[in-house]
Amino acid sequence: MSLASVIRAEQKLLLPTYDRQKVLFTRGRGVYLSDSRGKRYLDFLSGIGVNALGHAHPAIQKVLKQQAGKLIHTSNLFYHEYQAELAKRLTRISGLDRAFFCNSGTEAWEGALKLARAYARVNNNNGHKAKWRLLALENSFHGRTFGSLATTGQEKYRHPFTPLVPGVNFVAFNDLADLKRQFDGSVCAVCLETIQGEGGIKPVSREFLELARELTDKSGALLMLDEIQCGLGRTGKYYAYQHYGITPDIVTVAKPLAAGLPLGALLTTDRVASGMHPGMHGTTFGGGPLACAVAIEFLRVLDSLLGHVRKLGQYFVEELQNLQSQHPPIQEVRGMGLMLAIELDSADTAKSVVNELLQQGILINRTHDTVLRFLPPYIAEKKHVDELIRALGRSLGRKNNHREHSGTQRKHREAHAAKHGIFPTQNNEGSTPIAKSNTHN
Ligand code: PLP
Repeated sequence: MSLASVIRAEQKLLLPTYDRQKVLFTRGRGVYLSDSRGKRYLDFLSGIGVNALGHAHPAIQKVLKQQAGKLIHTSNLFYHEYQAELAKRLTRISGLDRAFFCNSGTEAWEGALKLARAYARVNNNNGHKAKWRLLALENSFHGRTFGSLATTGQEKYRHPFTPLVPGVNFVAFNDLADLKRQFDGSVCAVCLETIQGEGGIKPVSREFLELARELTDKSGALLMLDEIQCGLGRTGKYYAYQHYGITPDIVTVAKPLAAGLPLGALLTTDRVASGMHPGMHGTTFGGGPLACAVAIEFLRVLDSLLGHVRKLGQYFVEELQNLQSQHPPIQEVRGMGLMLAIELDSADTAKSVVNELLQQGILINRTHDTVLRFLPPYIAEKKHVDELIRALGRSLGRKNNHREHSGTQRKHREAHAAKHGIFPTQNNEGSTPIAKSNTHN
């Protein structure tokens, strides 16, 4: 099938939810994808953080083939060999006690929201008053189903579907005073991404997370962390909260968990799990033998990759900072491990860079209009980072030249020089943490 015929068929047959790039991928191996014309692409997006082991990883292929020949689905009415084993591994690396498996990120977050409400209902320490409010963060993203949407602090996603689930209030990102102001005994959970992903790769500050932990501990509310994008090795630790030395009551994971198969999970403590009883929550497909067997293998491989993710992430961020010192459109470098981003000064520039890189066979994506997001597979190497940096440099160089000609460059350069000095430092006072300050603990 050709790209043109697929586009025509999809236009006629699919719900118009996606504005896809015009590429038809047919194969993947390692950090590269190939399209229907045989063109190769360096994959620095990993299917939005899913293909953490790249494509066609031999260990994953082996387990996939073996398990597909044995048993694919049982439903959750019966036992199979792998849920308990996977839960054992996930709880061991998280400091939590129990797991619930599902099929996607949003489903994991829905389960977490339901658990928070269910737990508060039987453990209400707010006198006779209700304890059901959820505090979420502005600029957050938790998924597309109603509960997840209700806790997603971005109007563009929420607006077409209101009214949403009631009882949610939004706190300004990293604003300690606002959190204190909005928190009281009626809150059953504080909900946040340890690093906002879709919101532009913004790590929550240590002070904010510590305050959220302190307030929830005191009042018997839960701290719920969404690590669907930043968890499971992406930052060089199993969970991003481990950089902060804080353990949540519930954490959700998904994207890389089954190396490309749909699988999500929520992890929680024995205490919080007591809020659930048989029949209160469930799923037909979630935690099936195929996905769980693959996830166990993913975690086994991950153990040997964490150090590499940290090292490569450090190299990558330094290269991005070098780039920033040469290219005024780069406003900030952010992120941790292999979850990195650069913020540009215009949406047009960001869009054009993504398109130029695609033409050159490099996949990245743009989030929040002006942010270039990098989520390479954990198996990427220095030479792949170098390839991306060279392409980014070329593309931004062309933009500089263009601005030079159009006369806006001098102003930008002067502002850039004032901000950075001769040896630029890239982080403004009061901005969100960058990878340099990764060493949170
Ligand atoms: N939470 C976070 C932090 C995410 O990044 C995403 C997806 O990008 C989701 C939830 C939703 O996950 P899914 O698309 O698998 O439902």
